[in-house]
Amino acid sequence: MEDSLKRPLGHTQVRAWLGNVLKSRRISGSYLFVGSAGIGKRALAVEFAAALRCATPQNHWACGRCNECARVAHGVHPNVRRYAKPEDSRDLPVELVRTICDDASLSRLEPGYRVAIIDDADRFNESSANAFLKTLEEPPAQYVFILLAANSAQLLPTILSRCQMVRFSPLSAADLARAVSGFEDLPARPEDRDLLLRVAQGSAGRVAEMLTLNVPALAENFSSGLAADPFRAAEQLVAALSKDLPAELGTEGLRERLRNVMAVLSAHLRDRLMAALSLQGVAPLARGQDREARSADALVTALNQLETLRERIDANANVKLACDLLALRYPV
Ligand SMILES: [Zn+2]
Repeated sequence: MEDSLKRPLGHTQVRAWLGNVLKSRRISGSYLFVGSAGIGKRALAVEFAAALRCATPQNHWACGRCNECARVAHGVHPNVRRYAKPEDSRDLPVELVRTICDDASLSRLEPGYRVAIIDDADRFNESSANAFLKTLEEPPAQYVFILLAANSAQLLPTILSRCQMVRFSPLSAADLARAVSGFEDLPARPEDRDLLLRVAQGSAGRVAEMLTLNVPALAENFSSGLAADPFRAAEQLVAALSKDLPAELGTEGLRERLRNVMAVLSAHLRDRLMAALSLQGVAPLARGQDREARSADALVTALNQLETLRERIDANANVKLACDLLALRYPV
């Protein structure tokens, strides 16, 4: 495969299943790819679309070299369109969905399959879902919708019930390590790198996000500043999170950054807990007399508090307030 088509790592089962679909040519009108953000759903959707268009497929998949493949890979093929919610919008707006339906109803520019890849399919609202249902239910001949969604809990049943669902698992540790091996700015120390990959939960996209903001350093600065002045540490954290935040990402972007920092802090706490529990058989919640057990007990409490705080952030807690609470609760 040439570099014109990115071949995402892992997802062996999904790839095998899609391979069978391509081989049988029993192509459904609508697929729903579900799995965490940044694990390669979009890349595989593009690869699948290219396979449907490819002039010289190899083993039923895209060759990556022909003109069809090149145009799909570069996002300029008139029969393979990509859609996503605007960054400043919470939902997929009904106007965009109408455009998607209008595009589908146009007569084809070139023979063969047409594909629409729709990102953020967990962000349909009632009206945009309603505008889409009829087209989704009865797509034109040789028209394939590939919907991508990170959060299956937020999918509307009306969308879910009309698509063939394809579940993506997080990348395995080995695949994730391979996927990010070319990233610049990976931490130099192996233990820092391991921690980052652990926190990313099988998502190369999440590793990239955390590196852009240098989340490991932010977490380090925050925890080392706590002993001197927790409120100052919180203030500095808010300032660092807000730095260069694109305006269109708004408060939700700020919350996402804070979640990433908290994930690294939680991982540090879990490492400290493992160290504190190095004596076999010490139950963290047993209020033993020895120092290790007490320390472990406090760390478990802190981990639970962090989890509660994360839930409050998910429920739209104020970021400044959340950082203050984090500074007060994080054990120095
Ligand atoms: Zn090709």
